[in-house]
Amino acid sequence: MRILITNDDGMNAPGLVALEQAAQRIGGDVYVVAPEREQSAKSHAITIRHPVFAHRLPLTHGEVMRIAVSGTPCDCVRLAMIKLLKIKPDLVLSGINHGGNLGWNVFHSGTVSAAAEGHAFGVPSIAFSLASWNSEVDWGGLDVLAAKLIKRLIAAKHSRPDWLYNVNLPPCPMNEISGVRLTRQNPMVKGDNFIEREAPDGRSYFWPVWDDVMAERERQTDPEIDTVAIREKFISVTPMRYEVSNMDEPGVEAGLKDFEP
Ligand code: MN
Repeated sequence: MRILITNDDGMNAPGLVALEQAAQRIGGDVYVVAPEREQSAKSHAITIRHPVFAHRLPLTHGEVMRIAVSGTPCDCVRLAMIKLLKIKPDLVLSGINHGGNLGWNVFHSGTVSAAAEGHAFGVPSIAFSLASWNSEVDWGGLDVLAAKLIKRLIAAKHSRPDWLYNVNLPPCPMNEISGVRLTRQNPMVKGDNFIEREAPDGRSYFWPVWDDVMAERERQTDPEIDTVAIREKFISVTPMRYEVSNMDEPGVEAGLKDFEP
């Protein structure tokens, strides 16, 4: 099984190594094509009007391929699919991101978007995130946990071949994890904020923070919501599809009736 691995935390992120080891545990041939620098919160951004450089790096963990790309997570997947891999991969894994990708953050996430890009190329894809924002993270054992999950997701019955999952791991020791829950994206979490500060030259600047997110989480109680599952120390598995058309707007049909351009 050929497994393409990418992330948005960059080629040197420990979460990437954890995911590589997970892929090897399930017997996969690992192709790493990841951003050379951190590209968190780059969403589906792609590089245009600039070249994208790809540097082949020495193999470190028994990979087949290890390439650092000068662009975004979606650039990595597109380049891998179109140019770098001779045969399409059987699976795309993205992560393990340092920080959760829950609620609205799913749309900002480079980690989830890279997996979605794999899905767009018709390949089953999984995004992995560790929902911890502490600077010190223990990545030990997450490869074993991720490998177990990947096996189960591969073996599950799917309605389409290009399935896509967003997996978040709770920020607690492995022996405290409550279990796994099938979840849906929290529709409420936004919680963006900016702290205003003054630069040494007197200009004001704004530091983006998400300090309201925790409070928003407390307001939700439905156990099937991703943020609630994480709060209750469950692994959150959200099946995803990328279809944004909203056909529940009956009023607009009448509103557009007899419109003559
Ligand atoms: Mn990240």
